Amino acid sequence: ARHFQVLVIGGGAGGLSVAASLLKRDSALALGIVEPSEEHFYQPGWTLVGGGIFKAAQTRRREQDLIPKGAVWLRNAVEIFRPEAREVVLNDGTVLSYDALIVATGISLNWDAIPGLKETLGKNGVTSNYRYDLAPYTWQLVEQLKGGKAIFTQPPMPIKCAGAPQKAMYLACDAWRRRGVLKSISVDFNTATPALFGVKEFVPALMNYVRDYDIALHLGSKLVEVNGPERIAVFERKTETGIDRVECTFDMLHVVPPQVSPKVVRESAIAGSDGFVEVNPETLQHVRYPQVFALGDVIGTSCAKTAAAVRVQAPVVATNVLAFLKRKDPVSGYGGYGACPLTVENGKIVLAEFSYGGKLAPTLPKWLLNGQKPTRLAWWLKKYVMPALYWKGMLKGHELFVAPEPLKPGKK
Ligand code: FAD
Repeated sequence: ARHFQVLVIGGGAGGLSVAASLLKRDSALALGIVEPSEEHFYQPGWTLVGGGIFKAAQTRRREQDLIPKGAVWLRNAVEIFRPEAREVVLNDGTVLSYDALIVATGISLNWDAIPGLKETLGKNGVTSNYRYDLAPYTWQLVEQLKGGKAIFTQPPMPIKCAGAPQKAMYLACDAWRRRGVLKSISVDFNTATPALFGVKEFVPALMNYVRDYDIALHLGSKLVEVNGPERIAVFERKTETGIDRVECTFDMLHVVPPQVSPKVVRESAIAGSDGFVEVNPETLQHVRYPQVFALGDVIGTSCAKTAAAVRVQAPVVATNVLAFLKRKDPVSGYGGYGACPLTVENGKIVLAEFSYGGKLAPTLPKWLLNGQKPTRLAWWLKKYVMPALYWKGMLKGHELFVAPEPLKPGKK
């Protein structure tokens, strides 16, 4: 087996950030990145593509150009994790061994879970900002719609960027309002979750927009079937007495698919009971295999699955992996930071920032940016600062505002 000191699985937001962070700290590391895709996507930009603000191509780069200097890129997917042997097997049969493994395979979109959906995506008015090729179709539909019914859906948790389903809706409503057609379009939001947003402090600001745009809000309402040609969406809606099956016709349907841990992780020994990698929520080290670490959407902790979380996790994992290689205990801790910039209108954002337990965790002082209110500053950050921070900061291992917190003594 070919051996690496550190083997990173996945060259997405988490994999590239942690690899860059490690090599910045120790450029002599023998580090490999396993990633099958030739392309890398800035997924947080897809909301703005669906809102007609970014072009899709702005969110895509060649993986080749992003692999940090000094890392070896293995252009394959992992097919089997063998943590007890400290090995992984790739889909071409190659076996790789490691001193430390970092799992960053992200979360899988389960389009197949909704009968009728996959075959109608990209036509019949059915779209999703959760795919690079479909986000432009969202904007096309928004631009074309003059009246009728628009339905937006959100599946049960966990999903990446839990605010994204409603972000798509607010940007669409804002565009319709500016064009003077919002009054002729009836908008529904169906979310399988029991609340509009998981952290209650941000709900009032969002509810103001739900009212302003005259959106019919259906909590506990899950999309279970789509008939594209006839333009019918079927929901299972929780009522006081049970579950109703409701059929709704639509002119536009924006779907966010149910999401699961990737099969290769789910079916391996590194998974916990929920299928995600079972790490200590603070050190991000595996609870059973000390040589295994993980970050990003694939970890089974209660933090928000966001790139913002990855930005804070990467240096924590990097420093703890380096300590591990020196046979030391973890040195830094992750407090569960995640952020969700809710694009409530073109030009304003409710910037939800919180950590484990839904504790508010604003980066900037409240007088400068109050995350519980829509602000222009947060929009400006999302449109101009965050993409640059991603490409030039996080993926390069520059750690702005995210010095890893030292682990409190006695914790492991
Ligand atoms: P990813 O970036 O998805 O990368 C996973 C990588 O692993 C992929 O490159 C994949 O090819 C690779 N991989 C998968 N399986 C294997 C395998 N078996 N072997 C090897 N490699 C494998 N976050 C925010 O912070 N703010 C936002 O506003 C925001 N908005 C979003 C809007 C949308 C529409 C979407 C879809 C996401 C949004 N996110 C946002 C979430 C953010 O994009 C993710 O949280 C982030 O990309 C997670 O990084 P990751 O490395 O865990 O996963």
